[in-house]
Amino acid sequence: MKTVATGLAYFVRRQAVQNLRLLLLYCTFLVTMVVGYAFLFRYLMLHLEGREFSLIASIYWTITVMTTLGFGDITFHSDPGFVFASLVTISGVVFLLIFLPFILISMFVAPWLQQSLQYRAKTELPADTRGHVLVFGLDVITRAFLRKLEGRNIPFVVITADHDEAFRLESEGLNVICGTATDAAFLEKTRVKASRHVVANLNDPACVNLCLTARALGDRPITVIADDPAHVDLLRLAGATYAIPLSQILGRYLATRATTCGAMSHVLDSFGSLVIAEVPVYGTPLAGRTLGQARLRERTAISVIGLLERGAFTVPRPESVLSQHTLLLLAGTREQLFAVEQIVSVREVEDMIFILGHGRIGCAAATNLDQMKVPYKLIDRRENPACGRHAQVTGDATNLGLLRGSGIDRASGLIITTNDDNVNIFLTLASRHVNAHVRIVSRSNGEENVDELYAAGADFVVSNASVGANILANVLDKKESIFLTEGVGVFRRTLPPRLSGWTIAESGIEGLTGCTVVALERPGVPEPLTTPPPDTVLKAGTVLVLIGSPEQEKRFNQAFQ
Ligand code: AMP
Ligand code: ZN
Repeated sequence: MKTVATGLAYFVRRQAVQNLRLLLLYCTFLVTMVVGYAFLFRYLMLHLEGREFSLIASIYWTITVMTTLGFGDITFHSDPGFVFASLVTISGVVFLLIFLPFILISMFVAPWLQQSLQYRAKTELPADTRGHVLVFGLDVITRAFLRKLEGRNIPFVVITADHDEAFRLESEGLNVICGTATDAAFLEKTRVKASRHVVANLNDPACVNLCLTARALGDRPITVIADDPAHVDLLRLAGATYAIPLSQILGRYLATRATTCGAMSHVLDSFGSLVIAEVPVYGTPLAGRTLGQARLRERTAISVIGLLERGAFTVPRPESVLSQHTLLLLAGTREQLFAVEQIVSVREVEDMIFILGHGRIGCAAATNLDQMKVPYKLIDRRENPACGRHAQVTGDATNLGLLRGSGIDRASGLIITTNDDNVNIFLTLASRHVNAHVRIVSRSNGEENVDELYAAGADFVVSNASVGANILANVLDKKESIFLTEGVGVFRRTLPPRLSGWTIAESGIEGLTGCTVVALERPGVPEPLTTPPPDTVLKAGTVLVLIGSPEQEKRFNQAFQ
């Protein structure tokens, strides 16, 4: 399979594409020649021998003669006809049987063979390499992370022990070196001592070994993704600066978003005294009102910085209607947030959550619900051998009879977390059909299925790849940006010096980049200024807290940095 992928990767390269164009040109020439001969054949047969043939028969004759098959069912009976037939045979031999295979072999097969045979993966980086990120273990998460690094022009190198994979990745244009991650002599050659960061997404024992080896070589920060949360301490002990229990984090994300307990706000992150939090409107007295009627700002002084509705971010306006599916994004101090919680904490609905998929992530979600004291039902087609704590219904979740029989129509929230996106999409659609009001939170294993899950009726989609990549990027940036949902994030930037003295409106930050300034951290002022009005004058040293999509963040970097 890998060899086929390697071959395909070769064919999309620039040189191969150019050769394909030449081949196409040559084929057009052959087709023209066949059609030309066919017309000539018809003409000669009619005028030399008085026999009439259709165009199809003429093409058939030309092809059988050119390929030297010559069935003999249609033949000339005159000397000029024999001469013409010989000419067609000779040109068939030359252009079809000699040139065509020659072109195919010399332009495609030989260079590919030569390249793959001659390919020697790089096994070391130049001695003066510095500031690069070393990435061990390429999967959907680290690939999404690499795209972020590319967007920020941070150099990176992918390390693999597999020669075929190295060839394939290099064919994609990635900087790859081949070697064993746990070999100290090889790690030296990755210039790990001068690297900016080491990121690994291998299995936990391999990560432990890598951390020990890399730590012995220097003090560069190492971030690893832990498969099992129970291994986090071991990984730290081995030398990891950060060990990220991703399945636990994803489980918590899913659990908080599926419950009305989440009406108690979910703090996404904090910058100093500024807290960014998310409050689901679901099950609160705010549902059905407009933002203006909710009067959150007047009552608590908190700022509503955005509204999320089934993954779509909108800028809040007083006339925006808050539905059961809306998530409020808030920025303010902890006290202000507490005041909001007092307003929204009257629960109208009792929680009953269904978790479909009791793997690592489903299990982590159940553990979180245990902590929140929210009742739930787990369904999986297999027992989870790593979990002895949670009772589950065993069966295929795509069996709608099983779902109905388990009472899914009475569920207030649904966490869909199988490892198969097709199943997740199917379950989202089926559950939305059975229970129009259930709050559906679904996991997307690949980034490409997020839209389909929303289209199927999910209220919130969490993609492993995006969350993982965002966490890795945050670690790298020392938390300069936080992840809100697919496609929206909050990030901090120091005011570009040339904008000092301008107002927010004059600066063009919002107009040029599409980002919204949600808060200002002013030098010497402990309290952040949330949702600053457009006429606020920006002073040197101010830190801007902005909200925007990755594309808008990139535009900001290009315009101002
Ligand atoms: P993990 O990736 O570790 O969170 O595991 C995903 C879980 O989804 C595994 O325990 C699978 O058994 C479970 N799963 C996958 N497909 C289905 C299905 N159709 N019905 C129920 N559980 C499923
Ligand atoms: Zn469990």
